[in-house]
Amino acid sequence: MTDDVYWHAITEHDAAFDFQFYYGVKSTKTFCFPSCKSKAPLRKNVTYFSGVALAQADGYQACQRCQPNKKTQQDTGLVKLIYACNKIEQHSEGSLTALQLAKSMGLTQFQINRLFKKYLNVTPKNYIDQIQLNTLKINLRNTDNVSHAIYQSGIESSSVIYGRMITHLAMTPKNYLKGGAGIKISYAMGETRLGQVLMAATDKGLSFLQFGESKHQLLAQLVTEYPNAEIMLMPEQSAPQLEHWLHLLNLYLAGCSNELNLPLDIRATAFQKRVWDFLKTIPYGEVMSYGEIAKAIGSPKAFRAVANACAGNNIALVIPCHRVIRGDGSLGGYRWGEKRKRMIIDIENKLNI
Ligand SMILES: [Zn+2]
Repeated sequence: MTDDVYWHAITEHDAAFDFQFYYGVKSTKTFCFPSCKSKAPLRKNVTYFSGVALAQADGYQACQRCQPNKKTQQDTGLVKLIYACNKIEQHSEGSLTALQLAKSMGLTQFQINRLFKKYLNVTPKNYIDQIQLNTLKINLRNTDNVSHAIYQSGIESSSVIYGRMITHLAMTPKNYLKGGAGIKISYAMGETRLGQVLMAATDKGLSFLQFGESKHQLLAQLVTEYPNAEIMLMPEQSAPQLEHWLHLLNLYLAGCSNELNLPLDIRATAFQKRVWDFLKTIPYGEVMSYGEIAKAIGSPKAFRAVANACAGNNIALVIPCHRVIRGDGSLGGYRWGEKRKRMIIDIENKLNI
């Protein structure tokens, strides 16, 4: 890899290069992961290390922010593979060659071939061809909406990789990343008028807010959602934060407050994010149908995908999927039960107070 590739990885905060190399900042004598979100250093102040020990031997201290000395290495080959597959899917019209892909990741043709062979037992060229074929099939089926078709082809093409990855790892690539690999999550339980609630957060914000019938069931849900994360009970020093959030939640459910602005740390596909971002714009006390939302986000045929995105919401109330109902005015489903959905809609309509 050239210095240019390294430098590009730093300016892009590219996590695919984490553990591949570390960069030291001569002026502060600290070293970081390429993905570190600290302010970018001047290029002339940067030096590169291939390992933590080498950086420390040169007198560099680990950055407090990205903590390159503390994180354990994930399967970097897998992280690279997922990065490569995402890149290919973004270029599903087929404009990307295996060699270009390799170069963009600082790999040789041989290395990228080996990467695909190891996890998927296909060449990158096979994979690119497969994506193109899927895209083409779908485009032919839905010629009236090409962009939607391409979005769908992303899903179908993933099934190619999914099948093979499940064999290899007993896990899908999305679940590997979505599963919280490398993150710490702490949780706390509480009582609300909608029942037992579990809130869980990373250091960036709330990542899980769900209702359930029992503590045990809620914890099992959390673990299922983030099988690769390090999950722990909220440490004492963070408890007031969560207590405060719980208090806001109870005010909200009492109809005393119409805002629930909690910091979120969301892991989502691009489509889920579009839907969830839109849900947050539906005013308190109002409802929309799945179809109306699909139209509003520019994918009028995707109402089923919208319903799936709502069902996949991990953060009840804050991402207000309860404000989405069926086109015929009936409630539609709710991840935490229709009874709760009815209650929340009534609370927002002030029928209960
Ligand atoms: Zn850093």
